[in-house]
Amino acid sequence: MITTHSLGFPRIGKQRELKFALEKYWDNNLTRRELQQTATHLRQQNWQQQTRLDLVPVGDFSLYDQVLDTSFMLGHLPARIRQIPAAEQSDELDNYFRLARGRAAADDKHAVQAAEMTKWFDTNYHYIVPEFEGTTTFSLNADRLLEQITEARQSGIQAIKPVIIGPVTWLWLGKSRDNSNRLDLLDKLIPVYAQLLKILQQAGIDWVQIDEPVLVMELSSEWQHAIRKTYYDLQRAPIKILLATYFGALQENLQLACDLPVDGLHIDAINAHDEVTKLVDWLPAHKVLSLGVINGRNIWKTDLQATLTWLQPIHQRLQERLWLAPSCSLLHVPVDLNSEQKLDIRNWLAFATQKIEELATLATALNHGSEAVAEKLADNQAAINSRQQSERVHNKQVKQRLANVSDQLANRQSNYATRSTLQCQQLNLPIYPTTTIGSFPQTLEIRHTRRDYRTGKISKTLYQQAMHNEIKACIQQQEALGLDVLVHGEPERNDMVEYFGEQLNGYAFSQFGWVQSYGSRCVKPPIIFGDISRPRPMTVDWISYAQSLTSKPVKGMLTGPVTLLNWSFVRDDQPHSQTCLQLALAIRDEVLDLEKAGVQIIQIDEAALREGLPLRQAQWKHYLAWAIRAFRITANGVRDNTQIHTHMCYSEFNDIIRAIADMDADVITIETSRSDMELLDVFEAFQYPNEIGPGVYDIHSPNIPSVDAIVQLMKKAAQHIPANRLWVNPDCGLKTRQWEEVTPALVNMVAASKRLREANLAVI
Ligand code: GLN
Ligand code: ZN
Repeated sequence: MITTHSLGFPRIGKQRELKFALEKYWDNNLTRRELQQTATHLRQQNWQQQTRLDLVPVGDFSLYDQVLDTSFMLGHLPARIRQIPAAEQSDELDNYFRLARGRAAADDKHAVQAAEMTKWFDTNYHYIVPEFEGTTTFSLNADRLLEQITEARQSGIQAIKPVIIGPVTWLWLGKSRDNSNRLDLLDKLIPVYAQLLKILQQAGIDWVQIDEPVLVMELSSEWQHAIRKTYYDLQRAPIKILLATYFGALQENLQLACDLPVDGLHIDAINAHDEVTKLVDWLPAHKVLSLGVINGRNIWKTDLQATLTWLQPIHQRLQERLWLAPSCSLLHVPVDLNSEQKLDIRNWLAFATQKIEELATLATALNHGSEAVAEKLADNQAAINSRQQSERVHNKQVKQRLANVSDQLANRQSNYATRSTLQCQQLNLPIYPTTTIGSFPQTLEIRHTRRDYRTGKISKTLYQQAMHNEIKACIQQQEALGLDVLVHGEPERNDMVEYFGEQLNGYAFSQFGWVQSYGSRCVKPPIIFGDISRPRPMTVDWISYAQSLTSKPVKGMLTGPVTLLNWSFVRDDQPHSQTCLQLALAIRDEVLDLEKAGVQIIQIDEAALREGLPLRQAQWKHYLAWAIRAFRITANGVRDNTQIHTHMCYSEFNDIIRAIADMDADVITIETSRSDMELLDVFEAFQYPNEIGPGVYDIHSPNIPSVDAIVQLMKKAAQHIPANRLWVNPDCGLKTRQWEEVTPALVNMVAASKRLREANLAVI
């Protein structure tokens, strides 16, 4: 018999119950008991959804983040938490939230600096980064895990498999604060894990899942050694270990993973499909092979028949040594498709709950023959066929256009030097020109107007009028501030991807398809299900209206193809590069329409370009090649005197600067203020050829930058980039800020630019 299990389930709740409970609790509007009750309820619900599996995960639930949970389990608290007076420090949950978000609740007297947060591998989930020092010590605190095991048993779940993050991955995810080598901590860490495994065995646990997704990364021999050492040291543990890897193929770590003295290995059979044959051959005969055959990263139904046909011979060889699971934790998909009543592509989709059902169906078919689930298989096949053949998915014209794309589309008419002369003449901007990144504060009023329009409470005409008023006020503000290149302010946009997705064919939107992004925050990625086309212009009217109000240039504002792709659930029936190219052609049409309408500057945001980098550096080149090409095809159809801007957030782009330069945007605006222009160090070695606006106002902070601070930052920038190629602008869009913050910050920004101009004149 095959064993089925799952690596983890979304914890946010069908209706985002955890989010609302946490936020109320932090605002002191919910007691701790009530918060715990919500958590208990969610855990029980999750287990109930998974009772059809042979092993149900426990310990995957978290009030904030599973990496932070691990840090607490290992008794790893940074000094600033340990320094809180002893009486109050003993409160673990307070400290937990302090580390996660700076404070335990609204009135916390012991607020601390929140820990850094960063992306969990190549997902959009963000974890709390462990902070290490050479002197860091560990001590086991398994209470949370043990309580959840007890709780699961009390709710009738007997087949329990605790899930923990492995020591090597946990160290790998952290950062050293004193330049010590975090691998030196391994010797202190392994005994704590050994102790944990012993306690789990005493609690009657048979199997434990230890996650080591680092095994899909390019590991130095030092890290490979760490893996080997850890599992050799832990092999005496009186419990069976299932070592779990996901998000990629093992490649050069495959032999290492096979040889480890553990009892089973889980691999992501979606991403590492080609390695399965080798694994079946190589894995020692006493080990379990768990295949992650249901995609835990997308929302499509699995082709059950195709999967079965592929699995049958593997099952014959491995028999009960074959386990089946989703490829990774289901944390990265929405909870339950049954919540979606309006989604017309529903029949093609599977969310976490449905993925568990698929898994159970596969196992029944393998264990008892396909006849046992004939109806389910037939339904599934019908859905798969309907998607494959649907005219809503396949658009001949789009495919034809794609087939005719030539590299010529990706090139501007002339090089930057020629363009810049023409653009200078046309735009006549001063040196150190000032601009913003696009959005202005999204006031409650703006959001209510959008909502009222969406729900049909106000007419289209009224809506347009209200938006025009917002745009007008925004233009007036910018003129009063003395900015050089204006924007319309984006009041009509709820989100930079959703706004375009809603107007493009090939996109669908769920109502409740929320996925945890970090802590209580969720995102609802749109779904790209079909060939992308643009039935009509999407932004031209708004920008034209804004331009009609002022003699200063107004930037057209678009989201780029790579960002549209990376922030959506994407098709699995064609390469991402293909989908990206379709998006590129649709946005290219918008760029050309804007140009035709007389817009002289067009900004194409690629906020998520860096995020899409593959986990393995060896694959970066390929990704960057198609991503940058897609951007170029979007942008480069314009005349020489039309100025193309692009914007990127968190542009830690030292390692991809050549690709950024290859985008050939006339101007790029980037985030640098938080790092004190450190990011510009890259220009020591590489001469960035075009114009650049290094953000001088950190919009993520309520602080208002002083004129002096901005001047200093720009002077630093001028050491790397010639002054006549520098722009002065904030870090990112201003939509999350209040006008009271934005106005004085921009006043200072404009004043700083003026001072820089005067200083520049003095030099000349
Ligand atoms: N133009 C967008 C804005 O200003 C860019 C947002 C982003 O980069 N995340 O809101
Ligand atoms: Zn940004």
